[in-house]
Amino acid sequence: MALARKAGRPPWIWDCEPPAASGLPGIQYVSDQAVTDAYRRMKVMQGFAVPRSGGLDCHGLTVEVAVERKLGLSGKPDIEAYGLERFNARCRESAMRHGDAFSDLSTRLGAWQDAECRTMEAAFIESVWSSLQQLFDAGLLERSHRVTTYCPRCQTPLSAYDLAHPDAHVNAGGSGALVRFRLAGVRGGANPRLHGADLLVWTTKPWRLVCNAAIAVHPHQVYALARQAGRDDRVIVAEACLADVLGDDWHVAARIGGAELAGASYHPVLDFAGADGPRPVVGGYFVTVGRGTGLQDLAPAFGADDLAAAVTHDLPVFDPILQDGRFAADLPIVGGAFFADADKIVTAALSDAGALVATRQHEDPSPQCWRCGTPLLSRALSAWYIRCTSITDKVRATRDRIAREPATGGDQRPADWTSDEADWVVSRTRYWGVPLPFWECSAGHLTCAGSLAELSELAGRDLAGIDPHRPQLDEVIITCPQCGAPAPRVPEVLDARYDAGWMPFARQRQAAGTALGSDNGPQARVVAADAGHANGWLAAAMTIGAATPGRPAFSSVLCLGAVLDDSGRTMSRRLGNLVEPLPLIERYGADAVRWFCTVSAPLSAPKALSEAELEHIAGTVLGTYLNTAAFFLDFAQTAGRPASTGSQDGLRAPPPSARPLADQWILSELQMLVAEVTAGLEEFKTAAAGARIAGFLDALWTWYVPASRGRFGDGARTVGGAAAMATLRDCLDVLTRIMAPITPFLADYVWMRLQECDGRPGAPDSVHLTSWPAADEIPGLPAGLREQVAAQLNVRSVQIVSPDQEPTLVSADAGSESGRPRAGWAIATEGGEMVALDVAADL
Ligand SMILES: [Zn+2]
Ligand SMILES: [Zn+2]
Repeated sequence: MALARKAGRPPWIWDCEPPAASGLPGIQYVSDQAVTDAYRRMKVMQGFAVPRSGGLDCHGLTVEVAVERKLGLSGKPDIEAYGLERFNARCRESAMRHGDAFSDLSTRLGAWQDAECRTMEAAFIESVWSSLQQLFDAGLLERSHRVTTYCPRCQTPLSAYDLAHPDAHVNAGGSGALVRFRLAGVRGGANPRLHGADLLVWTTKPWRLVCNAAIAVHPHQVYALARQAGRDDRVIVAEACLADVLGDDWHVAARIGGAELAGASYHPVLDFAGADGPRPVVGGYFVTVGRGTGLQDLAPAFGADDLAAAVTHDLPVFDPILQDGRFAADLPIVGGAFFADADKIVTAALSDAGALVATRQHEDPSPQCWRCGTPLLSRALSAWYIRCTSITDKVRATRDRIAREPATGGDQRPADWTSDEADWVVSRTRYWGVPLPFWECSAGHLTCAGSLAELSELAGRDLAGIDPHRPQLDEVIITCPQCGAPAPRVPEVLDARYDAGWMPFARQRQAAGTALGSDNGPQARVVAADAGHANGWLAAAMTIGAATPGRPAFSSVLCLGAVLDDSGRTMSRRLGNLVEPLPLIERYGADAVRWFCTVSAPLSAPKALSEAELEHIAGTVLGTYLNTAAFFLDFAQTAGRPASTGSQDGLRAPPPSARPLADQWILSELQMLVAEVTAGLEEFKTAAAGARIAGFLDALWTWYVPASRGRFGDGARTVGGAAAMATLRDCLDVLTRIMAPITPFLADYVWMRLQECDGRPGAPDSVHLTSWPAADEIPGLPAGLREQVAAQLNVRSVQIVSPDQEPTLVSADAGSESGRPRAGWAIATEGGEMVALDVAADL
């Protein structure tokens, strides 16, 4: 069978981004599958060993949130009341159901695919563990206390990719506050006029003032002690922002360097922290003057710069916000309020205290969780990080080893090509994911298990059959190898983006049959990624490759264009313009949909899905192919077949060079078709290949067949008829083989009918068992045919001009793709071919 891998065949691997089983498959999946399958089929026909592995991303918060909605739950307390084991069982069922829908759709589409590698399978989880162990041993995976993005409803840290998701920044703008803080003291030797002045701070998040620990100034910035005519008020702002912040009727009474201001202290306006007395003004190079006052409030639990300054200046880290995003109930003024709703409450309190100078609207985006729509919080918490920033050079070197297909030249990279600019927070304080394989004793010794066998040894019992998910795995307590104390598992699970990014490596190990931990599997030749990059799979795969095996999972990457709706808009649930794939397949056939996805537009370009286009493909392109085949079969049955094709009921067809000119012409076109379609597909220029096939079908059906109709009528009773039958049979044979990867159902149907009616000895029963056609040498156009064409066109002669002679006919013209014709000539181009006509009348 074609599917059986034959020993000694070179491997050719096309890998693909695993789709997420958090919902039903959409048209984008169909498109990616159609392209993947077309290439796999072509490469099998060319004699390569082509694995047909598929993958499915089954874990993660997206699955959890969908299941929460379905069960009418929201948030961790609900889930825990429902029961973690039951909840994860529902998540597994949901992933299975969606996974089966993906498999069914692949089958309906005719895509060759083995059972997919599903990320929730125990073997896959063990493979992930082994990679995490490698990272941990290399010091690239660590737990640390940092400020990261946090969703208060999902109650978990999120990564930069969750922030970059198209639905993450929905709300922009809000009301900010300009607040004054009375200076309490200044450092020795500072300008005495500072006494009694106010520090002006602008904040777009007034709730942060509840947790205020200090005010930062830039040490190199010049600050103005500003005064308003006729008033005693003195305020301090960066001189550069004076007019913007206060208007024109304030003047500079004195200038103070930022370094001189640092070391002063101020009185808090709202003292929630319970720390009596003044707070410090500290220096910080992170302070900007662009949109604020050049003075920045610090809330160390809620900002990365704030937390770093707290470490430097030994500031208290006050975090009164609970896991659900609400302020602790016993806090004055804001107790029990959701953090994002506390802005108004705090602003009113500032006003009551006489500290509010002004409120102003701002346009800053307020990031929201793309899954649940809840405002996100930046907060300091303990989480697990992959230290991407410590291997930046390695990530870049890995990236540079990967080619982009089609080769575009230059440095055009996919949007999420690399993620070496920030460490990757990979832990989620959630339920349905790969449990982090770390066990920790009360002394803080961490032990990492790279497999269930290793874990069994650590636990002192056989865990081979265990479901390595929560809560089953949480029940496994090991004995700490360092101190002998009992060590439970850390509670976190893994970001599902890691699972997906690890998948190509897991599959390569599997393909090589190597033990876990070895990386000798064959590398994918091409990996196809979704142009949307919504989940950052490419970057995840690249980062993981640089960090553990030290090599990319693939040698080249092809970003497949998004399928848009018929008015060119991105399809999304929010816009309500999602197209269901199955009804389309039922209406137009899997082959028409595959043709649309594969060869109707350049692979990397977005393509608008219109039913008119599918109708054209099904009716015109594929219809022409079927009509031509039916025409041949009809005449072969009624008028007989030539002897040369294996039957004995007619005359033998002469060799091609002795056949009529029309036959010679269409056969030369056929050779060009093979050469150009092969080159187009090899170079991932599929639209050109599709246009070439459609053009050939048109020429065959609308020109060759009518022009030879008389001879077909003779059938194999005359030499001319036998030649026409043999010629058309040759064309159908080759066409069917080059269409097989794109339209596998129709091509196989035609192949079987041709075999039944006019079988060729030794030919396989299915077109998918044949080999890819090789282009024979292409004859030039026969002189006799050129004369015939010239006579039909009423011109003196027809000459074939090679591309390097074209410039003699065309003047360069930057404004036009084909240039301007030289004086006295007219030119026309179509499908990459140019016709030039000397328009001078030859009288
Ligand atoms: Zn959320
Ligand atoms: Zn220990």
